Formats: sequence, C-alpha cells, structure tokens
Amino acid sequence: MRRVVIAGFGGQAVVNASFFGDRVCLLSGGMLSLWWQASRQRSAKSAREVEKGMAAEQPKGAVVVTGASRGIGAAIAEKLAQDGYGVLVNYAKDADGAESVVSAICARGGRAVAVRADVAAPGDVADMFQQAKQDLGPLAALVNNAGIAGAAARIDAQDADELTHLMQVNLVGPMLCAKHAIQAMSTAHGGTGGSIVNVASVAARTGGLPGLVPYAATKGAMVTFTRGLATEVASEGIRVNSVSPGIIATDMIVTVRDVQQAAAASPLGRLGRPDEVAATVSWLISPAASFITGSDITVSGGR
Ligand code: NAP
Repeated sequence: MRRVVIAGFGGQAVVNASFFGDRVCLLSGGMLSLWWQASRQRSAKSAREVEKGMAAEQPKGAVVVTGASRGIGAAIAEKLAQDGYGVLVNYAKDADGAESVVSAICARGGRAVAVRADVAAPGDVADMFQQAKQDLGPLAALVNNAGIAGAAARIDAQDADELTHLMQVNLVGPMLCAKHAIQAMSTAHGGTGGSIVNVASVAARTGGLPGLVPYAATKGAMVTFTRGLATEVASEGIRVNSVSPGIIATDMIVTVRDVQQAAAASPLGRLGRPDEVAATVSWLISPAASFITGSDITVSGGR
C-alpha cells in the first residue's frame, strides 16, 4: 500500500491505494467508502452545475459481472469499467484470467477487483456481494453472465449429476446472485434501485445445437426468470432484462460441433464478437434504456 493524493470531482483526498505498475487500481475498503461519500456529495453539486449548462463527471456505483475471467464476461467487465462503474470481476477457477482483466481495466484508469466465487455455492455468492460493497461501493448493477455448456450428448446419454451441475451453475447461480443484488439495490431494502442483465442465448428459442438441449433449456428458463423478476421488482427501482447472444467466438464454442456452419448460415454470416454483446449489456444498464424492463435483446447476426 502507498499513500496517494486523488484529485477529481472538484477536490482532493489522501488515501491508501493498491498499484498496478504506477497506476492506482483499487482503493482500500474504508477509504474508498469515504471517497465514495465525498464523490456523491460533489456529484449533487455537479448535477446543479449541469443544470447551469456546465460539463460534469458522474461517479457510478459497483457492478458485479459473473464469469468475467474470459470471453463475453471479460468484454462486459471492460466495457462497464469504461462506462465508469467499479467492476467486480468474478471467476470460478481462472485466477490469472481474472487478474489480467483487472489489470487491463486499471491500466485504463478504471476500478476493478477480481473475486473467486462459484455462483452455484450460496456462501461464495454472499461473500462476493459483501466484497463488492466493501471494495467498490453501493451496487448499481448485476450481470449474470457465468455459464457452462455442460456435456454434449443426447438426453438418453446424459448423466444425472452432470445435469444437476448444469442447472446449478446456469440457473440456480443467477437466481442466488439476483437475490443478493436485489437485497442491495431494491428501494424496499433501503437501496436506490439498479439494473440486472441476464445472459441467456438464442438457444432458448432454437432448442440448441446438437447435444446441447439441456443447456438450451437452462437459457429458456433464464428468459422466463428475467420476465417474471422484472415484474416482481419493477416498483422497487430495478430493471431486469436479458441478452440472447448467437454464436460468439469464445472458449465455450471451441468444442461444440457444427458451430462454424451454424454461424455461416446466419444472415450476417459470421461469428459474433464478445464486445458486440458487451455493447448491448452496457446500453441496457444505462439510463438510455430507462423504459426497458422484462425484455430479451437478441445479439445474433440475425440468427
Ligand atoms: P466462456 O468463455 O466459457 O467463459 C465462461 C465464464 O464463466 C468464465 O469466466 C468462467 O470462469 C465462468 N464460470 C463458469 N462456471 C462458473 C461458476 N460456477 N461460477 C463462476 N463463474 C463460472 O463462456 P462465454 O462464451 O464467454 O459465455 C458467457 C455466457 O454467455 C454464458 O452464460 C453462455 O452460456 C452465454 N452464451 C455464450 C454464447 C457463445 O457462443 N459463446 C452464446 C450464447 C450465450 P473460469 O474461467 O474461472 O472457469
């Protein structure tokens, strides 16, 4: 830890900070909380300045992005950090991947922290949200991105334990994360509102590629969950939406059969990129989507 002077939002603060190279990355918990409160007060002043026609920076809260060590989640984490959020980069196993996402964010002047948590483990999820609050400030949004494809096989060759694990990671995990996010953001729990984006899939509609029917079923349930939860928490300041990517170039699809042919057969005729999904998630969380809840946005090249 080194002591540094942080300037911005019309003032200065002396704080303890962790460094990546010579850049400030993550302020220590207690001091960050003081910095956050001061930023909020200055933000109110800034809002008045905006009313007078002056430009102002707005501090943003914390976002938890599950499964952000690589692929679509990493792209979402980097985009939301660019948008000004403090990002909790969640991972299950790939600590190096998560740290490199945090380093990339910090190298651009953003705030991020890597946290290991299995989204299917209730204790891990509770600890993760506690850490988001402590390290990054009040929660503004949750992106339920972590997911697995499961074993590629027809139903008559599927293993019961593998199916249960698939349901736990792809469905129970996002529900557990939503539970903690709502406790943190809902006006009924003393929060100021926020946004949840669930990463589903076009497989919810198509039934999935060969052998991935159970995976497709979890994504169909994710869309249903999105719709119902949006209604449940709409009056508490929380919008809930999902994105349904088509075939995106990540590690997940490497072992999937027929994936190149399916991408080539789509109207845009190519694989999607993780940043193309991240841009949609960023927009859904932003005030530009303030009248959108319970919606599923397809990001699939027309598939
Ligand atoms: P990916 O490259 O395989 O990355 C998956 C991420 O999820 C990794 O960060 C992984 O962490 C994390 N993860 C897996 N199990 C976890 C658990 N139990 N707890 C916490 N994190 C866990 O996958 P992707 O292609 O980016 O997919 C991201 C999301 O998009 C998934 O929900 C997927 O279903 C959905 N999607 C993908 C496509 C596609 O074509 N790629 C299409 C439609 C929908 P570790 O690295 O630590 O294991």
